Parts: sequence; structure tokens; C-alpha cells
Amino acid sequence: MRDDIALPTLPTMTDPFGRDITYLRVSVTDRCDFRCTYCMSEHMTFLPKKDLLTLEELDRLCTVFIEKGVRRLRLTGGEPLVRKNIMHLVEQLGRHLKTGALEELTLTTNGSQLTKHAKDLYRHGVRRINVSIDTLDAGKFKQVTRWGDLSRVLDGLKAAQDAGLKIKLNAVALKDFNDTEIPDMIRWAHGQDMDMTVIETMPMGEIEEDRTDRYLPLSELRADLARQFTLTDIPYKTGGPARYVEVAETGGRLGFITPMTHNFCESCNRVRLTCTGTLYMCLGQDDAADLREPLRASEGNELLSDAIDKAIGRKPKGHDFVIDRGTKRPAVSRHMSVTGG
Ligand code: SAM
Ligand code: SF4
Repeated sequence: MRDDIALPTLPTMTDPFGRDITYLRVSVTDRCDFRCTYCMSEHMTFLPKKDLLTLEELDRLCTVFIEKGVRRLRLTGGEPLVRKNIMHLVEQLGRHLKTGALEELTLTTNGSQLTKHAKDLYRHGVRRINVSIDTLDAGKFKQVTRWGDLSRVLDGLKAAQDAGLKIKLNAVALKDFNDTEIPDMIRWAHGQDMDMTVIETMPMGEIEEDRTDRYLPLSELRADLARQFTLTDIPYKTGGPARYVEVAETGGRLGFITPMTHNFCESCNRVRLTCTGTLYMCLGQDDAADLREPLRASEGNELLSDAIDKAIGRKPKGHDFVIDRGTKRPAVSRHMSVTGG
């Protein structure tokens, strides 16, 4: 091979700890049609609509991130599919898949609107989605989501699979709520050709419950699961923080997201943008950078690009999440629905 021809180098953003930032999660709305007990309080105050970036502004922001080195983009919320005209943004972002600038465009959703949107998601280039379901018992589903309807979500899963979307089920592990059901959920998900991931509950935002009552360390859950399944660690990665095992009995993959028992910050490759243009460099820290002001200050992207560089330059080493009886206040005051999962 000739060594006088330099291969084109892809743009990269690298933080002070040498981590390349290649993954952007965008919360397109803080609103939701559910009120999951661990995520929100029942009577949430949402942002006034006028404070939201327009879909065009969100597209411009995402495009600058892609030009600077983001290769994976996940839309989340709140519930991303309740944002008005959201498919317009998906379509716009899909153009970066066509050019190859973006490797993947995904979505995390509660599934309630999938029957309506699954085909369009696929048409605009989305291939994988995460759907959050914490229980397959309709009564318990209503209890945990307060406003959700399981049958509608199951119809959404079917519509998504029919449209060609690959699904990963996300379940938050909740002590004395779904812990004993998780083995059946794994069998069910794998039987439907879906991967599944279990998540530790994180102390974000004030809710009505005491989180310690429901907190289930996944180390405990994994030990329980290992009594009935043969779990083998595998190097499979999707760009997110989950560590995967293969379940011999089902032939499927199971992921563990363990921010509490095993923090994964050393390999963190992501930052999070809210629907008001605030950039959080860490899910578990309050420090943030306002990108709305530089976005609106000029038509060119230089100010915005500088503001992003400055923000990445102060990405912290990690979060300080703690859930114990002595720590009554959440680690960060904002709810998960502000920055998305
Ligand atoms: N509404 C969409 C959904 O539920 O998939 C997207 C946003 S939701 C905030 C993203 C993920 O965060 C969901 O899987 C949800 O279960 C999870 N989540 C919400 N609050 C959480 C918390 N306090 N700790 C851990 N996971 C949480
Ligand atoms: Fe809505 Fe998702 Fe939060 Fe549940 S977890 S309240 S579906 S944003």
C-alpha cells in the first residue's frame, strides 16, 4: 500500500479524559402520555411550548454534532413520539444516514404511538428501537405507568416488527414489583426475537415514592437469574452502556445497565441534548451548557461549534449516584424525562 496517501480522517470530539464523543441523545420533548412512577410525579409541570426548540433548530443542532463527530443519534424524551410532527425531524435526520455521516438513528419509546409511526420510522432509516416495558401484566402495567395501556403497547411492538424494526425491550428492575417476573419477560422477549435489557433505577428528580423501597441492585438480580439460566458474558455492544450476556436456554441476549452497582463512566461516549437546547455532559451531574443562545445568535454555526467544544472540554469523569436510606434527595434534581434515558 502507498503510504503517501493519507486516509481521510473522520472528525472527532474528544473529552479531557480521552473519551471520543460519538453518541448524542436528544430529548425532543419533556412531555409524555405516561406517568411512570419511578420517572415522574403524577402532576408534572412541563415546559411551556414556547421554550422548546423548533424541529428545524433541533435538526440544525444535531447536524452540527454530526459534522463534529457524532455517529449515533438516539431520539428520546419524555415520549419522543408525542412531539408534534416528530416524523419530520426523523426524516430530516435520515438524510445523514444516506450520506453515511451518521451510522445509526434510533429511538427510545414507551411504544404507545408505534402503530401509527412504525412504518415511517423504518422508511426514514431507523432500524432498531428500544421500547420500555416493565411488566407484561396489564394491571401492573397500569399501576407503574399510571396512564399506560399494555395492549396498545403490544400492538405497537407488533407493528414495529411488521415494519422491519429490530426491538430491544428495556425494563427497569423494581424490587417487589417485577423482580420475580423478569425471567418470564426474558423468555417472552427472546421468544419474540427481541433483545432485552434490565436497568437499575437511578435517583433523578423528586417522585412520590422512596426510591430505596424499589431499588434492586442488578448484581442480586443476575445472581437470581443465574440459578435458572446459563448466562455467558459476550462482547456485544450497541454503543450504549449495557453489558450483555447470552442466555443459553433462550438463545437471546440480555443486557444489564448498572449505573449504581458498576458505573460505566470510564467508557462513556455520549452527551445529552434537551428540547430547550441545553447540553448535559453527564446524566448524573447538573453541569450543563446552553446551546440555544449561540444557535440563535447567528445563522452560521461557528458560535455553536465553539460552545459545543467548550462543553465537551468540561465533561466530568463520572456521576455520583447514590441510593441509600441516608440519602433522601435525588442526585440530580431534574427528572429522567428532561434528558431522556
Ligand atoms: N418515554 C420513553 C420511554 O419510556 O422509553 C423515553 C424516555 S424514558 C425517560 C427512557 C428510559 O428511562 C426508559 O426505559 C425508562 O424506563 C427509563 N427511566 C426513567 N426514569 C428512570 C430512573 N429514575 N431510573 C432508571 N431508568 C429510568
Ligand atoms: Fe414517560 Fe418514559 Fe418517563 Fe415512563 S419512563 S413517564 S414513558 S418518559
